[in-house]
Amino acid sequence: MKSPDVVVIGGGPAGTTAASMSARAGLSVVLLERERFPRDHIGESLLPASMPILEELGVDSKMSQAGFLPKYGATMVWGKSTAPWTWKFSETNLSHPHAYQVIRGEFDQILLERSKELGVDVREGCNVREIIFDAERAVGVRYDKSEGDEVTLPSSFVIDASGQSALLAHHRNMRKWDEDFRNLAIYTYFRGCKGLAEPDQNNIFIESFPYGWMWFIPLKGELASVGAVVDSEKAVKMLNNMSEQDFFDKQLSTAPYTYDLVKGADQVVKTTIVKDWSYEVSQMAGPGWATAGDAACFIDPLFSSGVHIALMSGVLASAYAVTSLKCPDMESPTAVVYEDMIRREYCLFKELARLFYSSNRSVDSYYWETRKIVGDTTGRDSRTAFIRAVSGQSVRGYERAVLERGDLDDSIVEGLKAVSEDFEMRRRLYETVSESILGLIPVLDPETRVEKKPVLSEGRFEWGTMLYSPKRVEGTVCSRFVELLINSIDGETNVSQIISILHEQTDDGSYDSLTGYVTRTLRILFVEGALCCFK
Ligand code: FAD
Repeated sequence: MKSPDVVVIGGGPAGTTAASMSARAGLSVVLLERERFPRDHIGESLLPASMPILEELGVDSKMSQAGFLPKYGATMVWGKSTAPWTWKFSETNLSHPHAYQVIRGEFDQILLERSKELGVDVREGCNVREIIFDAERAVGVRYDKSEGDEVTLPSSFVIDASGQSALLAHHRNMRKWDEDFRNLAIYTYFRGCKGLAEPDQNNIFIESFPYGWMWFIPLKGELASVGAVVDSEKAVKMLNNMSEQDFFDKQLSTAPYTYDLVKGADQVVKTTIVKDWSYEVSQMAGPGWATAGDAACFIDPLFSSGVHIALMSGVLASAYAVTSLKCPDMESPTAVVYEDMIRREYCLFKELARLFYSSNRSVDSYYWETRKIVGDTTGRDSRTAFIRAVSGQSVRGYERAVLERGDLDDSIVEGLKAVSEDFEMRRRLYETVSESILGLIPVLDPETRVEKKPVLSEGRFEWGTMLYSPKRVEGTVCSRFVELLINSIDGETNVSQIISILHEQTDDGSYDSLTGYVTRTLRILFVEGALCCFK
């Protein structure tokens, strides 16, 4: 057989997304999965941020046919008070006000079947032993079939989506553990739970308790996933003196709300223990290879971000593979952008989780005291990440709840207030000059600049323009028009003259419509802080 363009290791959400997107882009793809599907997996609660990707993959109708419960938000016992409070996605995400609570065996199977439909050669029962390299370039894999044969499969690109096994990171010793998130999770399933009262009955329920926090996720068929996240070191000591089941029962008995939801229901399977330590790998992409999903990074499950990052990185890994194969000159800068994009999402959720942990003042115990200290020592970067995340950037989960219900450090509350006041002040200020805008001279903030970079386009990376400004230090993709506009702002030319210059440079539209574009864009650039003033 001809060697495939792409080999994907792992058939979880990251692997199937990467495989499906690569196949859709016209590449030949082999996906190697060590288990036979359907297989069980933890991680049932999804985020609305994943919905556009599921639509893009073409599985949204299969998701609703599967009967998964729509998840509209979260109910939590966390923060200032010990009473439960509810957060709805619809408060911030109008286009996708719900996600799903899925049974992962079924969800992952839907994604795997979709990959097959799109032409991916899916091989189950195939355990990849190693990725083969020629110098720094990945050139294929070696795997064992369940029948015992060893196979060498050359390919032009390899995507490692092997989950927490993190095949490549393991072989190259690239996994960096986060010292602050060393938890352990113990979970099981119940049938016939009382559940939350309407209208919150499909929400994830999270309850902080002395040893850590518990989740209760309602699933279809009257099932519920119930688990506890506890301090790893303490838990290991306790588990030396009691059975797993006794340990789980002990956690449940000290979480009164979760206990009440579960009381009288039947536990349908034995408890499972999993290591819940956060990590990121020190290199996520290189010549001919990329890591995606948990094989690249894993964050504490507090914000239900795991599947979201798996799907997102699957899309990006495919785009990187397509770019590397179709446009080799772009491979190296694209690897940098790929890694930046995943690390940014990882850092955002990590810092949110860190701050969320530190903002819980309702329980007094060893577990929460140590996490409050972590929160108090967070640096400027965590604060900036959090402040930016809740001050106007797209919302992935229920992170804004922290602001309203958590007991945050004063400096963060003040930082958040200052950012929203600044936005409001700039909006008002613009209104005062909007009538006379054509005669005024716009001035760029010294930190504002545009740069050519690989940017995500239709299923691949292409050269595009990024706009960097004080409030968007990570950069945002901008159009050719915005690039021309920024480049024509020199601190001496007024808006009317700029419009005339642009009118000569661009041939689309009338002078009047160009005036409309320019003034609307200048307003956004001013409110966003890319322009410091008009003189
Ligand atoms: P996986 O889903 O783990 O898939 C990897 C696949 O690779 C597996 O099928 C495996 O069999 C296969 N594989 C591994 N090694 C090899 C090999 N050598 N050869 C071939 N195949 C291989 N996320 C959420 O979004 N919501 C939640 O509510 C949530 N709760 C969680 C609770 C806990 C306690 C934990 C620990 C995690 C939770 N997560 C949650 C995170 C979520 O489980 C993961 O982030 C997600 O499954 C990652 O998807 P993936 O495709 O990267 O990896």
